[in-house]
Amino acid sequence: MDNKRFAKIIINISHENVDRPYTYKVPKDLLDKTDIGSVVNVPFGKGDTLRKGVIIGFSFNADFDESKIKEIASIEEKDLSFSDSRIRLAAWIKKNYGSTFSAALKTVLPVKRKVNTPVKKAIVRVATVEKIKEEINAIEKSNKVARLRLLYALLEDDLIPREIAVNKLHISDPTIKKLCEDGFIRVEEVSGKDDKDRVLKKPPVLNKEQSAVIEAVKKDFDEGHPGKYLVHGITGSGKTEVYMSIIGDVIKRGKQAIVLIPEIALTFQTLMRFYDRFGDRVLVMNSTLSDGEKYLCFEKAKNGEADIVIGPRSALFTPFKDLGVIVIDEEHEGTYKSETVPKYHARETAEELARMNGAALVVGSATPSVDAYYKASKGEYRLFELNTRPTGNSLANVHIADLREELRKGNKTIISGILQSMIEDRLSKGEQTMLFINRRGLAGFVSCRACGFVVKCPHCDVSLSLHKNNTLTCHYCGYTIPKMTLCPECGSKYISGFKAGTEQVEETVKKMYPKARVLRMDADTTKQKDSYEKILSSFLNKEADILIGTQMIVKGHDFKNVTLVGVLAADQTLFDADYKASERTFDLLTQAAGRAGRGDIPGDVVIQTYKPDHYAIVHAAAQDYKAFYEEEIEYRDLLNYPPVGHMLSVLVTGKDEEETGKFTDQMCKALKKYFDSTVIGPAPAFISKLNDVFRFVFYIKNSDYDKLVEIKDYLEDNLSRIKKKNTLVFFDFDPYGMQ
Ligand code: ADP
Ligand code: ZN
Ligand code: ZN
Repeated sequence: MDNKRFAKIIINISHENVDRPYTYKVPKDLLDKTDIGSVVNVPFGKGDTLRKGVIIGFSFNADFDESKIKEIASIEEKDLSFSDSRIRLAAWIKKNYGSTFSAALKTVLPVKRKVNTPVKKAIVRVATVEKIKEEINAIEKSNKVARLRLLYALLEDDLIPREIAVNKLHISDPTIKKLCEDGFIRVEEVSGKDDKDRVLKKPPVLNKEQSAVIEAVKKDFDEGHPGKYLVHGITGSGKTEVYMSIIGDVIKRGKQAIVLIPEIALTFQTLMRFYDRFGDRVLVMNSTLSDGEKYLCFEKAKNGEADIVIGPRSALFTPFKDLGVIVIDEEHEGTYKSETVPKYHARETAEELARMNGAALVVGSATPSVDAYYKASKGEYRLFELNTRPTGNSLANVHIADLREELRKGNKTIISGILQSMIEDRLSKGEQTMLFINRRGLAGFVSCRACGFVVKCPHCDVSLSLHKNNTLTCHYCGYTIPKMTLCPECGSKYISGFKAGTEQVEETVKKMYPKARVLRMDADTTKQKDSYEKILSSFLNKEADILIGTQMIVKGHDFKNVTLVGVLAADQTLFDADYKASERTFDLLTQAAGRAGRGDIPGDVVIQTYKPDHYAIVHAAAQDYKAFYEEEIEYRDLLNYPPVGHMLSVLVTGKDEEETGKFTDQMCKALKKYFDSTVIGPAPAFISKLNDVFRFVFYIKNSDYDKLVEIKDYLEDNLSRIKKKNTLVFFDFDPYGMQ
């Protein structure tokens, strides 16, 4: 016990100045009660106010005068979730992404909150399949859409967790009650592990490409060195089957699995596939869970009540006893990077977690991130390709509509001639159409509608953003010019900010096709909880002919009746003002193409653009990932952008504009003096003022990530000395989007 004389404690305050371990004496009577992870009360600061803290380590020697060291006052509780490995993971996150220790701890561990254990219930089918089919036929044309939805689901599954039926299928209590009364279903309590009614589904016989992945992963496991794998396969090529098969093998070895899926793709269909294969050894974590419920999930995982957890980014921190594999589906999605501090990336953090646990990492996508593919090209990930669709569905035909040409022909609407005639054709056949318009950036770029010219920064090769005072600014380096009135390329007057929103499109479409039933999905129509899934469900149920939306409509769901997808302005993401703009556009276009024709009917995709010869558009149309990657990596290499080089963004905020600006300058100057790295900026941030707080940003580029970590540590160490009150500093490594 002697080695426990002193404890290192992180005080539970999120403030850089006190964010380091403090040393306290462990009183004799607490010696056997304290442990790593114990929550204790300690005297802190001038008045010796009692503060809560977490013990992160012990030592025999004190690092300074023992007589000055205070004692732990009392022990609050032993929270075992703060285990050694969790604290190590938090330390890694703090180091590599920059945050306070307590923010990092909070990221890996949800706050402990008491909740009543909800009773798990399941909806069990009692009627025969024939009877259900009869009922479906009888009410198909009625407006009992929720009842229909559940009946359809029951054709596929004889048991559906009630929680999933309510949260994912949006079936209300009265609907469930009525179906019970009518003798179709029964609601049962499922106690613990004996989910006996479920007949687990057998996997299909996997094809050669799929088996190759599974064999490789198994072999590496057998030889004691699980690896990192990238599965590149078009939508429908059987990636999910591969994941499930690997997970099945890992579970047989007595280990557990974490599956990350972007929230938006965590659909009813996907969940049911996991339930059908693994029964209730599956835990689902989604954003509708409260902190308490999340904590409960983690407890269950730790107690061995589940083997698999599926969820978005934060599910990565599930504290399994013996983690065997981490799967990341749709690995390229931006949501895998945290938008709050610590701004960790789930794939990189998963690499570290897998390393710590001796687990395998399997990431997959139809359009791998340039980062992951680059790693594969360097041999850090083993690359596997799935090039066929086991179900045989064919790929969509992709057409490019040149909007400059449309303007020349006198068509000033947002819908090209070819798209117009295709929509008419679909309406006449009773097939569905999706029209999608990319999210509008906060400040737009300026382009020429006659020739497609876009104004870019000569130093950073990203688009300049238009500001209210009619200036164009680069938000990497601060380069600013006045907005021009004539196109410098062709002299046309059609040079302006790009404007087109979902509402405008809806108006146009309704005018063009007065008889069509139109649904719109964007930030406005999805403000209410669940409205997103409701709109999608209603479109799935063929309650509308045309769905108009932002990119949220192109992900996840499998719309069998959609045979036409129109991308109204591909240029919108193409000219976002950051280095990932082309990559994002390529992903979106490829995914949009994947939406059309997933049923038996082959689909068409129309991509509208002012830049028909841009490589992101050309290769997306040809659905040629590799060709896109080759050109994109050349651009990244040339300008030393990630993944070839690395970037650290430093955001400085403060109430006093001048003071904050000066402080930012000071930091840049110090860096230029002491470090051999490129410092870009400072510049006013993309959002230069938010809630009366001014925001400045600068970027540091270096080919070595660890060098950037060193620079961050240097800044952190020196901040308290030079920092003004009320200014805050935030770090973001290899940032996504603009600050
Ligand atoms: P992805 O995750 O790449 O989109 P999925 O795993 O969802 O692909 O597979 C698409 C469809 O093909 C699913 O219905 C799945 O059940 C089916 N499938 C996958 N692999 C096979 C196979 N080897 N044999 C038969 N059907 C398969
Ligand atoms: Zn022009
Ligand atoms: Zn610039």
